[in-house]
Amino acid sequence: MADTGMDKIVSLAKRRGFIYAGSEIYGGLSGTWDYGPLGVELKNNIKNLWWRMFVQDRDDMCGLDAAILMNPRAWEASGHVSGFSDPLVECKKCKRRFRADQIGDLSTPLGARKCPECGGAFGEVREFNMMFKTQTGATEDASSVTYLRPETAGGIFVNFKNIVDSFHPKLPFGIAQIGKAFRNEIAPRDFIFRSREFEQMEIEYFVRSGEWEKSFEEWRKNVHVFNEAVGIPASAVHELEVPDGERAHYSKRTIDFEFDFPFGRKELYGLAYRGDFDLKAHSDVSGVPLKMIDEEGQEPIMPHVVEPSFGVDRTVLAVLASAYTEDELGGEARTYLKFNAAVAPIKAAVFPLLKNKPELVAKAREVYTMLKKFVPQIMWDDNGNIGKRYRRQDEIGTPYCITIDFDTLGEKPELKDTVTVRDRDTGQQERVAIAELLSKLAV
Ligand code: ATP
Repeated sequence: MADTGMDKIVSLAKRRGFIYAGSEIYGGLSGTWDYGPLGVELKNNIKNLWWRMFVQDRDDMCGLDAAILMNPRAWEASGHVSGFSDPLVECKKCKRRFRADQIGDLSTPLGARKCPECGGAFGEVREFNMMFKTQTGATEDASSVTYLRPETAGGIFVNFKNIVDSFHPKLPFGIAQIGKAFRNEIAPRDFIFRSREFEQMEIEYFVRSGEWEKSFEEWRKNVHVFNEAVGIPASAVHELEVPDGERAHYSKRTIDFEFDFPFGRKELYGLAYRGDFDLKAHSDVSGVPLKMIDEEGQEPIMPHVVEPSFGVDRTVLAVLASAYTEDELGGEARTYLKFNAAVAPIKAAVFPLLKNKPELVAKAREVYTMLKKFVPQIMWDDNGNIGKRYRRQDEIGTPYCITIDFDTLGEKPELKDTVTVRDRDTGQQERVAIAELLSKLAV
């Protein structure tokens, strides 16, 4: 990997238990990553924030958790079986395989481009379907072929009728889902940016056909609101209007939201107006009309769809890249993650000043237990000197370190039951009453 700062993020993520290479002790499995103890907290915070913002805080949204395995006819209807592919080329010399649109200068014909590994020439381009195939049941013939879903949206469309029948929503309304998706990417790369197993947070927002532009605009703005909430700076996010001819034939408008990743400006999220393409296709293939009554006494209609699609892992990477900071504090170089409190995997760490003073340890345990009851993401640390503990917490992005010292125990009576709270970004400490700690940590 070129030295773009990415190697430092990858190494911190591994060293501090955010993200490990998948199946590492067996030499790994390309395109898979395992989230460690801090990574899973960070990822859950991001997903919970999204769910809260786009499902629970609104009254026009329903949540869903559909099965990963679906009847394969659903993927025929959506066009994935015939068309969900990337252009694959093989080097004639070293036999390595690449995505044709990711090698060399795209303005040069493929015949004139050389293999980046060995300089060999390429063979013909062929379309490679990215869906993972598997089998359901004990028979292993064509009738048992199923797919691991390549996107979560499919599960939403096939449940449209269920949700309309159970809840009788009025237009516009949306269905949201967070879950795993699988793509047999030809060239997984750039850490968790492009993997073969990843998570998506997707919304199908159903609208009257004449009103899609208003909802599109609303979701365009919502993407930025979400980015701000997770700590992705607006200055690093760029909207790319996908031009005519590059959009899917049914889409009148698509925006890619690109982020300045350490390896370049690449897609973070997508927002597409999909017309009635999906509901129509699933109605045609399943034979079940996917329509709803919008106004009493009128014929059922097939709504149109605006689809914001967020990648969880790309969000995690953008949040890590945005938070990664190197500075100097107290004359020493330090590396820290400047997470905002909402996504920080640990909200505060509690320390007894000295590990070998039972009265300090007992008081610190009391504070820790009290805080943990209300804010579960609290960490205990009594290892090494205070300076080292601060650096360790800085590196994992903990906003506050709380130290219980002799003044907490009443050495200076006026300071009894107060603690020091040290701010990660400034390194400044202030004395705070134990009774005030929860409001200080309010996240
Ligand atoms: P790309 O052009 O980068 O392959 P895409 O346009 O195929 O992405 P979509 O099909 O629009 O992506 O998927 C929606 C979102 O899912 C993307 O914006 C991204 O955040 C995420 N995503 C897609 N493919 C991957 C992957 N292989 N690894 C991680 N996240 C992904």
